[in-house]
Amino acid sequence: MIDLLIRDALVVDGSGAEPVRGDVAVAAGRIVGVGPRLEVAARRVVEAAGLALMPGIVDSHTHFDAQITWDPTLSPSTALGVTTAVIGNCGFTIAPCRPADRERTMRNLTQVEGMSIAALRSGIDWGFETFPEYLAQLRASGSVANVAAYVGHSSVRTWVMGDDANKRAATAEEIARMQQIVREAMAAGAVGFASSTSPAHNGEGGLPMPSRLAADDEMAALVGAMGEGGHGVYMLTKGGHTPMPFLESLAASTGRPVMVAALLHNSVNPDAVWQDLGAIAAANGRGHRMLGQVSCCPLSMDFTLASPYPVEGLASWKPALGLSGAALETVLADPDFRDAVRAELATPTTFRLFNSEWHKVQVVETARTDLRRFEQRSIAEIAAERGLDPLDAMLDLALDDGLATVFTAMLLNSDEEAVGRMLNDRYSIVSLSDAGAHLTFFNDAGFGLHLLGHWSRDRGAMSLAEAVRRLTSHPAGVFGFERRGLLREGWAADLLLFDPKTVGRGPKRRVHDLPAGAARLTTDAIGVHGVWVNGRQVADANGLLADAPRAGELLTRFTN
Ligand SMILES: [Zn+2]
Repeated sequence: MIDLLIRDALVVDGSGAEPVRGDVAVAAGRIVGVGPRLEVAARRVVEAAGLALMPGIVDSHTHFDAQITWDPTLSPSTALGVTTAVIGNCGFTIAPCRPADRERTMRNLTQVEGMSIAALRSGIDWGFETFPEYLAQLRASGSVANVAAYVGHSSVRTWVMGDDANKRAATAEEIARMQQIVREAMAAGAVGFASSTSPAHNGEGGLPMPSRLAADDEMAALVGAMGEGGHGVYMLTKGGHTPMPFLESLAASTGRPVMVAALLHNSVNPDAVWQDLGAIAAANGRGHRMLGQVSCCPLSMDFTLASPYPVEGLASWKPALGLSGAALETVLADPDFRDAVRAELATPTTFRLFNSEWHKVQVVETARTDLRRFEQRSIAEIAAERGLDPLDAMLDLALDDGLATVFTAMLLNSDEEAVGRMLNDRYSIVSLSDAGAHLTFFNDAGFGLHLLGHWSRDRGAMSLAEAVRRLTSHPAGVFGFERRGLLREGWAADLLLFDPKTVGRGPKRRVHDLPAGAARLTTDAIGVHGVWVNGRQVADANGLLADAPRAGELLTRFTN
């Protein structure tokens, strides 16, 4: 008697092959049969009646490092079909971390990834100091989905350099110590090494995140240490000043894949992303493995001027970074500050989150009732009506409203023709949900369902079989997840049962369920009928099961 038989499903097996009607049998967490009609007795039979069955989604860009210590369900991702999450992207991890650095680490995460400091303080279970101890804690506590963890550059740097981590380049001796930590993390089961050189990544007080202070020799030494054992993916969220040839040289010298984020389409500078993808294709042509993380979601963010993530990467915004209250209001009102911001926005650059597309910035809600007339209107419109420059119009409104006005900005990746081409690029990887981070700004944890519904079904940008391959066997192969990502006999029974006619992600909504009652945006699945992790059901048509089992495995051995 086997555990589970899913009968009469449209089997989309993850390989890209044409879907076929059939049955899938599961025992002891593994697929034990795939075929047109399996005559086996099962403890549980699910009549799929033509619903589609695919391998569970691999989310290669998440930030659940902190959340997983208080929320083993990885909400909301598991209910959205994700059965394996890669954590530690951009190098913003919580391990290794000495007790003395915990407060600093949490404050940095608050700034860079929009996580509530109160939630982090009351939520994180700090039962570890080193990276191997962190993995041991994750293994002991378990999680609903499978997890693979990067060792993060900023945490490694803070461990070795303390207060100086976000202030200066490292010495040769410090680099050697960092290499040792990376080696130990890889030996303990890290999936790779993650870092960031992006100017958008600022920590407490507006100081750059530690990895941004790394010189090329440090980056090369640490990626080298990662690759010594013959496995590992190097993940980098790249600033415009980090040249692709340097990254290709790391792929060449280590033989390891280099995964570059965040390749988002910018309507104001549309060539940049094609140049990056072109450089990646050329590198592959020379035998150097590189991939670009692309997103199937338009990047829009909700923000207030008290914490305006979209503009915090501007050099001219520096005087305002880390300030609050009256001090911040003084800077935002200063005409010289405003002129400097305007001048910078008028200068072309390779990557910038916000690009003066004022018609794509809207007022969501105001705190003062007499300002409500501006709600649901664009800054371009409000500025024209008031005869003001748009930046002045936005800042004046926010200042009048005690900096409580909520704005939403459609920043990048909104040109669907271009994004469709990026999603189909041979060397792109569909990613960038940022699940677990930016919790009050946006929520793209449902990216996989969006690819299936919006891009495959509604827009026909790719076949269903190809969309499924992009979400499953493709990323699983890049990371070397052993026997995951395909519906094959002997492979892990990570499964997603869904209705291809309705599948999608629901609208974002605000909930207050984080530790200390902090708010986040979440989104519900549409058209999902069941999610299984290692053969155990964790979600059904109503979402995550109330008693969802901790069926996930901590992935620490890789075939790549
Ligand atoms: Zn990230």
